[in-house]
Amino acid sequence: MEKREMIYLDNAATSFPKPYAVSDAVKKYMLYCGGNAGRGGYESAIQAGRLVYECREKLSEFFGAKSAEAVFFTMNTTQSINACIRGSLKKGDRVLISNIEHNAVYRPIYKLSSKGQIDYDTFSVIENGVAVSQEEIIADIEKKVTKNTTMIVCTAASNICSVRTPIREIGELCRSRGIRFVVDAAQAAGHFPLSVEDMKIDALCVPAHKGLLGPQGCGAVLLGEGVKMQTVCEGGNGVDSLSGEMSEDPPERYEAGTLPLPAIAGFGEGIEVVKEIGLERIEAHEAALFKRAREELLNIGGVKIFCPESEGSVILFEIEGKGSEEVAAELAKAGICVRGGYHCAALAHKAMGTEESGAVRASFGIFNKESDVDALCDAVRKISK
Ligand code: PMP
Repeated sequence: MEKREMIYLDNAATSFPKPYAVSDAVKKYMLYCGGNAGRGGYESAIQAGRLVYECREKLSEFFGAKSAEAVFFTMNTTQSINACIRGSLKKGDRVLISNIEHNAVYRPIYKLSSKGQIDYDTFSVIENGVAVSQEEIIADIEKKVTKNTTMIVCTAASNICSVRTPIREIGELCRSRGIRFVVDAAQAAGHFPLSVEDMKIDALCVPAHKGLLGPQGCGAVLLGEGVKMQTVCEGGNGVDSLSGEMSEDPPERYEAGTLPLPAIAGFGEGIEVVKEIGLERIEAHEAALFKRAREELLNIGGVKIFCPESEGSVILFEIEGKGSEEVAAELAKAGICVRGGYHCAALAHKAMGTEESGAVRASFGIFNKESDVDALCDAVRKISK
């Protein structure tokens, strides 16, 4: 693989570039450590265990969880969400999800429901392409909660536009009704603040590889105090090795098999970089790029932006008369990386009204510059002619 000149505007898929501190940490683990955490009493295994613990601590501190023990690792956000959904639900439960969920939430819920094990309903965050107000979202949830509702799963931010959900308010509602609250923070972690304890979240699912600037191959769940789930994968973890059962206590209860240690090494450094830059600065920078893109794109005839008033790191648009995949392919030829078509979010496309042809998504990160936005808009101008 060679280093190529490109304008990378697909940070919602995975962030790029990664900070050198991240790639250095991955390399350092692979070259100089190499031990398996919890699997030996020699120096490199101890070092690996320390690395894992330190990353748990960093995550727990960054996301306001009670302790490092509340953090367990997975491979990605999808596995985190699946662990929480499958580990919590039982036959007859009813689940509420938002109508903008990614397939990482929708598909496990859909499967359990189609097998007759659970029942689910959606509440509206976007309706006919328009963002619903916070009050209306809460009112809709209240209307749809029944005595069998045991869980709400909700994304903190859409992956197809910059619409967010009122996590704090939904958390309060869930806590007051004894409903488990699982939050998909794939597009939120490292973009704006979230706190497990303050926002009354029972399980926060985060990826290393997006806003937290880490490598692919690692995700995490941050559990609220006292939250316990069934395990969905069993195996060795260096704890209670003579027992046929997984240990009772987190985090090892939920971790079976060797952890993605190189990715965890980079994950910890990614969090450090985000902290150093500061979430406020990141949020403001991404919103400024969004506003610039919105202003320039709206000046181009035939361009439509979806939910333009919600400002954040993701902008979704279409060019009249052009297929979104065709536009993305044209942009790729100009060295601009965006995504066309559908974005693994069946429900969100329905709510947005883009289920016929999808739309073009450009997503910004802290390392994007104004000139990247200008290059995107110049290319769109040419394509739209
Ligand atoms: N949820 C949302 C909102 C997402 O945007 C994504 C990734 N596009 C996921 C879940 C799945 O994340 P991962 O690829 O880390 O499993």
